Amino acid sequence: MSGFDTVLVVDWSGGNDTGPRPRKDAIWTAAARAGAGDAPLYHRNRDAAMDWIVSFLANERAAGRRVLAGFDFPFGLPDGTTRTITGADDPLSLWDWLQANLTDTGQTNDRYALAARLNALFPGHGPFWFNGTGQEIPGLPHRKFDRSGPFGVSETRAAEEVVPGAFSPWQLGGAGAVGSQLLTGLARLAKLRTRFAGDIAVWPFEAPEAGIVLAEIYPSMLRDAVSAALQTDPDEIKDRAQVRLLARALSRLAAGDGLSEALAARRPPGAAREGWILGTGIEDRLAAAARPDIAPPKLRDDCFALPAGVDWVQVDEALERLQSALTPVTATEILPVAEADSRILAEDHHALRSNPPTPNAAVDGYGFAHAATGAGAQILPLEPGRAAAGVPFAGRVPEGRALRILTGAALPDGVDTVILEEDTTVKEGHIAFDGPVKPGANTRKAGEDVVEGNLALPAGRRLAPQDLALLSALGLGTVTVRTKLRAAVLSTGDELLNPGTPAGPGKIFDANRPMLLSLLDRWHHAPVDLGIAPDDEEAVIAALDRGARQADVILTSGGASAGDEDHMSRILREQGRVTAWRIALKPGRPLMLGHWKDVPVIGMPGNPVAAFVCALIFARPALSRLAGAAWSTPRGETRPAAFSKNKKPGRREYLRARLDEAGAVEVFKSEGSGRISGLSWATGLVEIGDAAEVITPGDPVRYLPFSAFGL
Ligand code: AMP
Ligand code: MG
Repeated sequence: MSGFDTVLVVDWSGGNDTGPRPRKDAIWTAAARAGAGDAPLYHRNRDAAMDWIVSFLANERAAGRRVLAGFDFPFGLPDGTTRTITGADDPLSLWDWLQANLTDTGQTNDRYALAARLNALFPGHGPFWFNGTGQEIPGLPHRKFDRSGPFGVSETRAAEEVVPGAFSPWQLGGAGAVGSQLLTGLARLAKLRTRFAGDIAVWPFEAPEAGIVLAEIYPSMLRDAVSAALQTDPDEIKDRAQVRLLARALSRLAAGDGLSEALAARRPPGAAREGWILGTGIEDRLAAAARPDIAPPKLRDDCFALPAGVDWVQVDEALERLQSALTPVTATEILPVAEADSRILAEDHHALRSNPPTPNAAVDGYGFAHAATGAGAQILPLEPGRAAAGVPFAGRVPEGRALRILTGAALPDGVDTVILEEDTTVKEGHIAFDGPVKPGANTRKAGEDVVEGNLALPAGRRLAPQDLALLSALGLGTVTVRTKLRAAVLSTGDELLNPGTPAGPGKIFDANRPMLLSLLDRWHHAPVDLGIAPDDEEAVIAALDRGARQADVILTSGGASAGDEDHMSRILREQGRVTAWRIALKPGRPLMLGHWKDVPVIGMPGNPVAAFVCALIFARPALSRLAGAAWSTPRGETRPAAFSKNKKPGRREYLRARLDEAGAVEVFKSEGSGRISGLSWATGLVEIGDAAEVITPGDPVRYLPFSAFGL
C-alpha cells in the first residue's frame, strides 16, 4: 500500500469569518491526481471548508482512490505537554480533548479563552501567548514573556528544529503563527477521524496504511517555487500558489513510491508523540517536483527545408541535416530512480554524495596505523571490538594496535592500512604478519570512484540498469527525465487489411504497422496506433489529425510517391508543410519530412523492406533526438565479403546480410524490396558506399548488425 492516487492540501485558518466580505487569509484547498492539479478552492470559513473536505474525501473513497490529506498546522504539542492536558501521552487524546472543549462555529470561536484555561494547567504563566481579541483575558499574556523561569515545557517540537523558519505552536497570532490553527484545526480533524473511522490514519502516530492518511505539511518548504509563481503572475495569491504547488509536488512523488521514504523516515523519539512534518528530509525532491510541466517549443516550420535547388541528398548529408534540424519535443518529469530504467535524463545529474562516502576496508582483515609497522615479523595487540560495514567502530585505534575490520567498514580513527585476514596468524589477542606492508594497503579512498558534486550522468543519457546503481550510490533518489516520446504509426493504402482478417482479391496484409510499432517499443518510445487509412483524402486527413492530437511525431508508410493514389504526399504538400527528400538511398526512396498541425511527420516508403531500412537509418536517430537523447550513429564492423557485386555510382545501398560460419558477410539472394522474408533471414545490413564499387569475395565491407540499431 505505498502510492496515493489523490493528494489534498489544506491551508488552514484559525481566524473567524467576520463577513460580509470574504477574507484573504481564509482557507484554501488544492487537490491533485498523478501530478495534475485541480484549480485551488477558496473556503470562507471552517464550516464551509470542512463540509467540502468531507464530501471530497467521501467521493474519492467511493471512486476507490487513496488520499493523502495534508494540513498546515502541528499535529501535536511539544513532548510531555499533552499529558498535562489530557492525562495521556497519546497525541490523539489531545485532538479529542480539543474537540470536546473548543466552541467553534467558523464565524466565532473561543480559542483565546481556551488557551488561557490551558495555561492554568502549567507552572508560571503557562506556555500560550498572544491575544487577538482586544480585551484582557486573565491568564493569556499579550506578549512572549521571559520563558527562563520554572516553566517546564519546551518552546518547540523536534519538528520545528529541523525546518527553517517554523513557528512555536504556543504563539496564537501574528504573521506566520500556527497556535490558533492548531487549536481549531485539531478539533476539526478529530471529527474527521470519527466520520471516516476505520478508513483513516494519522501519520506519524499511526501507520500510513489507510484509505485516507492525514499528515502535517509545511507549505513554506516550497518558498522558492511559490515566489517564482508570484513573480510571474501578478494575480496569483500566495496561499493559493502554496496549496497548488504543494499538492502538485506531493502528488507527483506520491504516484510512485517517492513519498514512502519520507513516510518511513527515522524520526526523533519524541516525534511519535509530537508529530512530524511530511517532506522533512526530501525538501530538494519536493522543490524539484513543484516545477511546472514545461515542454520545449515545437520544431520550427521550416526545419526540414532543403536549400533552393537541392534535389538529391546523399545519406550522410541527410543525416547531418536532420541532426541539426531536430530538437527535443518531450516534456520533463521527476521519477524515483528505481522507476527510471530506459528513460532519458533531461538534465545533467551530479553526485550528491561521494562514492565511497568514507575511506573503508576493501577486504576482511585487520586495520592499524601504518606508521607503527616495519619490515620483518610484525606482532600487534588487538584492540577490543570491531568495525563492520554499516556498524562503524566508535573509538580511536591507538598506534601500534590493530582492530578487526570487515569489507566495506569505514576506517576508524587511527587506521590507514588493512592486512588481509589470510596473511595473519591470530593468537591470544595478537596478530602476526610479515612486513613491510604498503601504506594504505587494502583500503578504498573516499571518493576514489566519484567525488560529491561531480557529474554523475549527462543530459541525454538513456538510463540503463547499471546507471540506476550509479545514481543510487551517489545519493540520488529521483531523476529528472524526459516523458516518453509518443510516436504514432499510420499505414495508408486501399489494398491494406489487418492481418488475420479474410482477404479478398487485390488485398494484402498490413506488414509495416506491426513492424514499426514494435520498433518504437524496442526504442523505448510510446507507440500510438493510428490504424490503416484508405487512399482517400478525408480519411488520411482524419488520421493525421488524430495523430497530431495524440502524439509528438507521426510515422506514415505508403503513398509517399507522386502517383495518382499517393494521397499522403499530396495532402502534406498542399495542406501541411512538407519537404520531399529524395535521398540517394536504396532501398528507401521516397522519404518525406514535414509537419501536420505542428507535429513532425516522417513519411516512409510503403514497401516493407524500404520502410524497415528507412526506419533504421533515418527514423531511429531522428526519433532519438526528438525524444531528448543524444544523436546515435550505429557502430558497424569491417568484415570480409562472401559475395560479389558490381554497384553503380550515386546511391548508397543497404543489403540484407548475415554472417557465415567463417564470419564473412553473405547477402540475401534477391535485392527485390518486396521480399520481406529476407528481413527475417538477415541478422544485419551491409552498407555499400555512395560511389561505384566492385566487390569480390574477401573484400572488406561494412556490416551493421541489427543490434547496432538497438534490436
Ligand atoms: P506505396 O508507397 O503506397 O506506393 O506502396 C509501395 C508498395 O508497398 C505497394 O506495393 C504497396 O502495396 C506496399 N505497401 C504499402 N504499405 C504497405 C504496408 N503497410 N504493408 C505491406 N505493404 C505495403
Ligand atoms: Mg499506396
